Amino acid sequence: MSTTQIFNSLIESGNRYANSLTEYSRRKTITVNIGDVPMGSDFPIRVQSMTTVDTLDTIGSVEQTIRMVESGCEYVRITAPSVKEAQNLDNIRKELRVRGYNVPLVADIHFTPNAAELAARLVEKVRINPGNYADKKRFETIDYTESAYQAELDRIREKFLPLVKICKEYGTAMRIGTNHGSLSDRILSRYGDTPLGMVESALEFLRICEDENYFNIVLSMKASNTQVMVEAYRLLCKKLNEEGLKPYPLHLGVTEAGEGEDGRIKSAVGIGTLLEDGLGDTVRVSLTEDPEFEAPVAKALIDRYSNRKEKSTIIPSFTSTQHSALSIQNSFDSPINPFQYFRRSTHEVANFGGHNVPRVIADYSQIEVAQHEDLKPIGHFYLPLPDKWTMNDLGADYIYTAQNPAKYMLPMGLKEILDASVWAEQGDKLNKFPLFSIEAYQVAPEKHATLNFLSTSLADLNEALVEQIKADKTLVLVVATNNEHAMPELRRLFFELINQEITTPAVILRKYSDLPESDFQLFSATDCGGLLIDGFGDGILLQLPDLSEKAELITKSKSYNSTAFGILQAARTRMSKTEYISCPSCGRTLFDLQETTAMIRKRTEHLKGVKIGIMGCIVNGPGEMADADYGYVGVGKDKIALYRGQNVVKKSVHADNAVNELIEIIKEDGVWFEPVNDLEL
Ligand code: SF4
Repeated sequence: MSTTQIFNSLIESGNRYANSLTEYSRRKTITVNIGDVPMGSDFPIRVQSMTTVDTLDTIGSVEQTIRMVESGCEYVRITAPSVKEAQNLDNIRKELRVRGYNVPLVADIHFTPNAAELAARLVEKVRINPGNYADKKRFETIDYTESAYQAELDRIREKFLPLVKICKEYGTAMRIGTNHGSLSDRILSRYGDTPLGMVESALEFLRICEDENYFNIVLSMKASNTQVMVEAYRLLCKKLNEEGLKPYPLHLGVTEAGEGEDGRIKSAVGIGTLLEDGLGDTVRVSLTEDPEFEAPVAKALIDRYSNRKEKSTIIPSFTSTQHSALSIQNSFDSPINPFQYFRRSTHEVANFGGHNVPRVIADYSQIEVAQHEDLKPIGHFYLPLPDKWTMNDLGADYIYTAQNPAKYMLPMGLKEILDASVWAEQGDKLNKFPLFSIEAYQVAPEKHATLNFLSTSLADLNEALVEQIKADKTLVLVVATNNEHAMPELRRLFFELINQEITTPAVILRKYSDLPESDFQLFSATDCGGLLIDGFGDGILLQLPDLSEKAELITKSKSYNSTAFGILQAARTRMSKTEYISCPSCGRTLFDLQETTAMIRKRTEHLKGVKIGIMGCIVNGPGEMADADYGYVGVGKDKIALYRGQNVVKKSVHADNAVNELIEIIKEDGVWFEPVNDLEL
């Protein structure tokens, strides 16, 4: 099928943003030539990252680029804040070629068309930010008339055309890279701080390129808010289809994802969700760590889809006889708006559904709960002296003990779920809850008066079961699948619950074989996060792999619990930790970002739910502050601006004292409290 035929067929499909919601199918794109590493759907999804050393440090940049290539990067981006740095890209490129590295280089441009125009003559690709290429940010809301807005677009065209012409002449590729944190005043005034504003920001520039018959373009829609990021990419695909613009390759990324486990989980929630939909042709994972640690994460996310098509066998529709009364008829029927977050409407059952945050159920089916210590990995601590239990912010809500009832009375904040057959034999049936299979549920002589769990899969749904589920207001579903293409199958199940007007809360259950911890985090964050981003899931149960050693199970239990809370936070459905929106740093960074982030984290990580932005420079600073409660932004060499929300409260504090000053601001707001150290694991 030709490209034209592909996008014509997409346009006919209305709200479509992907090829299919029921089987893995990569979105078809045109090919973009970037040096000798082409990008697009005819090629593997590419890995890339960005250097962090000063661009004027030629050898430092070359050596870091080589380390990045060795770690898996297929493109390397280098910042060019001014003409000086743009010019030095030539030296960096030449030295790399001398050393035998042909990796395409990408110049990263903010604010400086003259640097872009020079870089476009020297390297394989230029990234521009449509939010600041032709505009200076003044944080003004302007009421544009149609003609005033058109005059602005004409002004942009005039500023942008020279770069387009140079790229065309030199065969240089371009990324039009929108960033949620740096939308122009013009876009913010007309569209607000929205996914639509992000999309329009890129399209204004893209239309100019197409008018000039320049198509060697990649697009991105990055945000640190995973919901906004996913919605913007999906909306972009829809808008490209609707306007008859070409299906350009997509560069996926979550900005300012942070570091360590949180950064990886957040990246997987955003990037993984889109990869599941078949979107994405290159991935950059942004961690506040050295860039050579980013490529392996990107690669692990991408590799999961290498053979996905062969492995996925999702039920394509409910048109079989068994499901004839159910409503989903083709691979793209969807009862939700994929471009705007709404949580699926559910009724409250105990503390599930309704307005309750999604619950975390820890898997203790293989761990005998015999000593107080056994609950420590999931955030519940026994203090012998006052003889009481306490919990930290990552205290699980339930444990699933299956066939092995706990040997002592659990703390108040923790409830127990047992397999129904074992529950039926318990003396205390009131404070424990049964998990039924469908067969057991249908013949059960006794059920709990207020809360019963029912294991369900997509294939189980039929008219009789739908009626039973609707009639029982004590039920919480536990939804599972063995399908490798798990997220779409479970999403399809949720679609069907909506179509059948079932408002029963549902817990997402996932079980993986004994994966390396890093893959487990990424895969579970993709599968559960993708559902949560679409508004699905009233709880998570991550089952442990089958293991024989209790010590090993306990260790895993701690990391699984932390991952579950991390996923809920990354999908913005339950805040249980301090949120750090920290940029990955680059050649523009004005202070030691990794060290500073670690220092701020050490001092503030007990402030549950507080969001702190840490930005190496002003480029994404103020915009990202829209999403943060407090901000720490580099404004000059070792000079820091401190923000409360979007407002600067201290303009230029020396880096030596800036963390203390930040804490003073938090204290002034009454948000500060002293950490309690005895709850640390
Ligand atoms: S916010 Fe961070 S990564 Fe982005 S340009 Fe500034 S220093 Fe570089």
